[in-house]
Amino acid sequence: MSVYLDYNASAPIDERVLNCMISVYKTTIGNADSRTHDYGDEARKIVEKARNQVASILGIFKDEVFFTSGATESNNIAIQGLRKYGEQSGKKHIITTSIEHKAVLETVKNMKEFGFDIDLVEPDETGRISVDDVISKIRKDTLLVSVMHVNNETGIIQPVKELGMLLDEKNILFHLDATQSFGKLVDELREIKYNMLSMSAHKICGPQGIGALILRKKNYKFPPVKNVYYGGQQEHGFRPGTIPVALVAGLGEACNISQKEYQSNERLYKEIKLALIDILNESGLSYNLNGSQKYCVNSTLNISINGVSSEALMLSSKQYCGVSNGSACNSNSYNLSYVLSAMKIPEEQIHNAIRISWGAGSNKDLITKEFKELVDVAKGLAM
Ligand code: PMP
Repeated sequence: MSVYLDYNASAPIDERVLNCMISVYKTTIGNADSRTHDYGDEARKIVEKARNQVASILGIFKDEVFFTSGATESNNIAIQGLRKYGEQSGKKHIITTSIEHKAVLETVKNMKEFGFDIDLVEPDETGRISVDDVISKIRKDTLLVSVMHVNNETGIIQPVKELGMLLDEKNILFHLDATQSFGKLVDELREIKYNMLSMSAHKICGPQGIGALILRKKNYKFPPVKNVYYGGQQEHGFRPGTIPVALVAGLGEACNISQKEYQSNERLYKEIKLALIDILNESGLSYNLNGSQKYCVNSTLNISINGVSSEALMLSSKQYCGVSNGSACNSNSYNLSYVLSAMKIPEEQIHNAIRISWGAGSNKDLITKEFKELVDVAKGLAM
């Protein structure tokens, strides 16, 4: 098997998280919202412990944490949930960026059908958006600004700390898609001012199918997000439906582990990145790093090897490295990455772009060994 280098798509589950979930599956029965027996109480205790663990890593209050199925759902609830407030208050302008994940882009696109006006901020060639560009687009009727913390394709950290402060002063709602930074940029996330935040457990070696939406209280009040689903009163009605206790426990444990280990993880990520860049430099291949490394997380590299198409490279080196090209592919059509296109990277370079991402538990020696093989394959393909 190849070495797995697609952590930004989904990270393998940590064995400690899995064991925690198995134990919950084996010992806990019942519904966390049942109030008539001990089984419900036991399940509820597990859910509330996990809520505390999510709150703890973010440095927030536990009643600000709402469990969802993941970041896509959190993004939908955060954005669509503001529709009624926007309509009532006459604030129907949303600012976001052209490099957001589809879970934000498609959601704001849908808001257009309800008369909302959307402004997209473009990044520069470093892969970053500018705070001034966002601020200059603010209008009297601006309801929401939604910007990701770290881009999933390039690993570029967006200037959301400064942006959050300015938006807070201006009393404009700020949604942070922190799917790629949660559990990693722990200190930075604690300092950012946001009203809403989205995350998914499977990006931090937790289980797939669970995540959280954070709604921060201001003057004791939640942001004016209304439920977009109808059902029971679970998660304050924001996410009705039976709470998946074992998944929630897995998310909590993944937060607990990340909180303890993020600093040592960060050192490992950096060592891996430096080792990969060394291999590239020694290979004699001509390559470009997409996005400025000054702003890039230590666990992602987006590279284009000149003269080597990503499709050809990925297919011919599949036995060594499981990487991706971060662009949407399906059987009939091939789309260039909209993120790299927005950065105005030349088309040829985008065709050659591969995204390599690693994370907690990655094995540096194995990665360097297999990456050398990929580089050898690239040498054979280079024209
Ligand atoms: N936002 C970002 C930045 C992401 O990277 C992803 C996952 N690739 C999502 C949202 C959606 O996460 P999920 O698929 O877990 O709902």
